[in-house]
Amino acid sequence: MRQLSGSVSLRRGGVDVRATMLFMNGEVVTVDSEFSVSEAVAIDGNKIIAVGTNEEILPLANERTQIVNLEGRSMLPGFIDAHAHLELYGTNKLGVNGKEVSSIMELISKLKEKADVTPEGHWIRGWGYNQNHYEEGRHPTRWDLDQVSTEHPIIVVRTCGHISCVNSKALELAGIDSHSEDPAGGKYDREGGELTGLLLEAAHMNMFLFANYSEEEVQHGLELASRDFLAKGITSVHDAGGYGPDHIRFLHKAVKEKRVKQRVYALYGSLHDSPGMVRNGLSSGIGTGLGDEWMKIGPAKVFIDGSSSGPTAKTREPYSSNPDESGILYLNEEELNETLGQAHESGWQITAHAIGDEAVEMMIEAIRRATDNSKREDHRHRIEHAGMVPKDLLQLMKELKIIPVPNPAFIHEFGDGYVRDYGERVNVMFPLRSYADEGIPFAIGSDSPITSEDPIHGIYTAVTRESKWGDVIGAEQRITVQEAIKAYTWNGAYASFEEHLKGSIEPGKLADLVVLNGSILTCDPGRLRELKVEWTILDGNIEYTANKEAVK
Ligand SMILES: [Zn+2]
Repeated sequence: MRQLSGSVSLRRGGVDVRATMLFMNGEVVTVDSEFSVSEAVAIDGNKIIAVGTNEEILPLANERTQIVNLEGRSMLPGFIDAHAHLELYGTNKLGVNGKEVSSIMELISKLKEKADVTPEGHWIRGWGYNQNHYEEGRHPTRWDLDQVSTEHPIIVVRTCGHISCVNSKALELAGIDSHSEDPAGGKYDREGGELTGLLLEAAHMNMFLFANYSEEEVQHGLELASRDFLAKGITSVHDAGGYGPDHIRFLHKAVKEKRVKQRVYALYGSLHDSPGMVRNGLSSGIGTGLGDEWMKIGPAKVFIDGSSSGPTAKTREPYSSNPDESGILYLNEEELNETLGQAHESGWQITAHAIGDEAVEMMIEAIRRATDNSKREDHRHRIEHAGMVPKDLLQLMKELKIIPVPNPAFIHEFGDGYVRDYGERVNVMFPLRSYADEGIPFAIGSDSPITSEDPIHGIYTAVTRESKWGDVIGAEQRITVQEAIKAYTWNGAYASFEEHLKGSIEPGKLADLVVLNGSILTCDPGRLRELKVEWTILDGNIEYTANKEAVK
């Protein structure tokens, strides 16, 4: 057991003891530099003041101290989800959930129920369909959706968030017909010259923006998202963006008014015209780190390619499932280098959504150029997802001190499709084992709502690489529970320059903590998913309890 730390600043016994809360008899996974495990923690207000054995910590109580017996359960630093979309997650909850049905027919009837109670002309929205999981084995079309209504515009978004299908009314309102040219970086799917209603990448992003929610709906959605994330032990979120500057404004308001309770590191980008958004940010004079411990401006973020499951990711070699396809690029090298080069030079942390190995290579090259042109120590530039990272790129990542932000839960959700689309390349997809072996500080993100926001689920997939269908995908990239916990806590804090504030249970750090209903370190990997969050403590307050009676 480690020594009591921070004891110098404490006066033991009598009235001077400052602990407001003690947690005793736990499996306290500190995630300090030795990854030590302790028994007890003392907090004072919103700060951790001591970590040690029961005997060391107990004397810090006085009659006002709340003492919690952890009874052997794990206490971890609050989870940091390094990549999630709070607004999308929340607003999705307001529409029809396409993950809860198993066919287009069922989706249609759910949408009809919504249309029946929605005034004509108002949007009907659905989200989360995956044609590979539907009985029909295909995307919906506008003709399917016209059966729901021809008087309401309708949009249903694929689970990846990069593809959607709309009905004829939506196309009409957006002024898109069979003569319309494909937008840059996107595609209107056609059949014999006719629009099918399926919109890919930029075509989807433009339509989604056109079908946007009101601020009231967004605020409500953000509140729902925050509540769900708290119940999963998430105390900090790196918000990966929404649509345009309004998103940042809405998010800031939600954080200020405590509808969003988590600490937010807001990636500065947009799902629509990301370079334009970054240029606006640069000219406004703000930059990475602006804000306080509740909300900070994060890195400038652009989109390089499509999604891993579409598949629309930009790969070096064609897809194994289709030798004529190798993905979609949102922007070319010149635009990427110029936009992010300027951001780097202005002092921003930079990042990009890059999934396929060609996109990852483009981003590495952009970082290499930027840092060659203007040297900066400790830039902590990131790559969101970094889906496919062959050995040569892994080495460059290490040399350039790049932080990848992978999403192991993608393996669970889409792994079987990956085998079909990328073949052997699944062995270098989300290569967590390689990152850990090379000492690359990867921070895990859920990319929720694309996959479940639950960090326990993320840890389980990082440890097992098991797909929904029970196949192990890229077995050599499995990591340990300890490594996965670190990637969900300390590494997340590091990726936002906040490891001095949070990410481990050490004296002086913020009291952002999570208690599970069992021991995560002794749990069999196959049963990790049975672990649930009991309490989420944020800024020293118990913000979530699974069992209201448990804490008095
Ligand atoms: Zn994302």
